[in-house]
Amino acid sequence: MDKAAVINAAVIPGDGETLLPVAAVYIRGDRIEGVEARRLSRAEREELARHRRVIDGEGLVALPGLINHHAHGAVPGPLFPSAEPPPSEAQARENLDRHLAQGVTTIVNVCGFCLPEEAARVSDHPVRVLLATAHLPRAVEAADAVGGRGLSAAHRAATADEMLARGAVALGEIGAGHTLGGGGQDYLYIPQAIRAATGRTVKPEQARALKLAALGRRLDPAAFDRAATARVLEDIGLADVLDPEQARDLVAASVLPPVRAALAAFDDAAEVARRHGTAVIFHNSAPSAARILAVARRLGKSPARIVAAHSNHDTFSVEDSVETARKLRELGVWVDLATFSLSERSRERMGNFLEYFDALAASGSANLISTDYNGGYWDGIPLAIDRMVRQGWASLPQAAAMATANVAGVLGLTDRGRLLPGLLADLTLLRADDLSRVAHVLVGGRVAFCDDAPGHHGS
Ligand SMILES: [Zn+2]
Repeated sequence: MDKAAVINAAVIPGDGETLLPVAAVYIRGDRIEGVEARRLSRAEREELARHRRVIDGEGLVALPGLINHHAHGAVPGPLFPSAEPPPSEAQARENLDRHLAQGVTTIVNVCGFCLPEEAARVSDHPVRVLLATAHLPRAVEAADAVGGRGLSAAHRAATADEMLARGAVALGEIGAGHTLGGGGQDYLYIPQAIRAATGRTVKPEQARALKLAALGRRLDPAAFDRAATARVLEDIGLADVLDPEQARDLVAASVLPPVRAALAAFDDAAEVARRHGTAVIFHNSAPSAARILAVARRLGKSPARIVAAHSNHDTFSVEDSVETARKLRELGVWVDLATFSLSERSRERMGNFLEYFDALAASGSANLISTDYNGGYWDGIPLAIDRMVRQGWASLPQAAAMATANVAGVLGLTDRGRLLPGLLADLTLLRADDLSRVAHVLVGGRVAFCDDAPGHHGS
């Protein structure tokens, strides 16, 4: 049986409290054998290396492998809850490579309509790929209202009950920026509609500004602000080709058709989750928050576990995002903090919403972290952990648990998320001097990623 050990690292076992300043993690086959809280001498290391692969963890922090419970495009199946055409297998693998380099050992693809056969096509990738299901009639109806081009007969025939029986770990994502007037509309559908009508190209944050002026935060045509719409048209260089009413109608025609069905699917998904006692991942945003609160009150103490995704969503005002998260936590909902705007690149490409991340992180109401897709510019979970620890919003064990043990708990995964004997030997090793940097990733005791940058060691 192949044996390994990570030695002389700081170790986070995953209980949300403990940090072992220096310890060794012993591995047998693909499982954790044990954790020993002491420093090994050079002689002991040499002795160990005679019958184990040894990874020197000096200057590193060993966490349980990161579980990214909200990702898109990691499986060659219908993309997003709007069911755009699937990414190629090569593209899905490339996305998995990026997640691996960001320290992820388990990913949950929440596009919603992918099938196990499609996930199987990338199952040889080191990252463990799990599926969530949104195979619900009204979720399909919402997808058809905006896209739906990625749905085959097999996708349409599948049911959420069947998918849960075939291993899906949650319902989700229920709702999406594409079907509920969020990022997917800002970076995809509204720009497409404007280009079709005017030949002009707009950036995501320009589309967002026009959307908010035309429909308000809760997608209400009655919230149309003519003066603000005129100003935005001026600012983004469209005033010569669109008047405010034309802009309102164009935005409404892109955003509104899927909304009723998308929200109705929240109730359908809640019923399936209650019946199966499983997790359900809801798209949390200004247009959908009231529906999630209603579902949470209705489900009360049922065995279903409700996740309010990306609760730092930019359709809220910053204050609303924090207040809504507080109310959701009070109702026992799991509150997800998405890694939006944590890098210069994602801020440049998708707009700067860092204040949303900071406000929710500082509030203490979030208990999960994930990446979502962010128009393809998603930032890694280690950036979130690093920022929360640097800012003092969480201890390292607490921040780590939000992407390890807490996630395993809400998804009912009993074989990962902590460094305990018998659990999967999935580890993410971060640099102690820069927690945003991933040094090593082990999946099933095997080194699946190694950051060859100088200054880190451990072979
Ligand atoms: Zn979403």
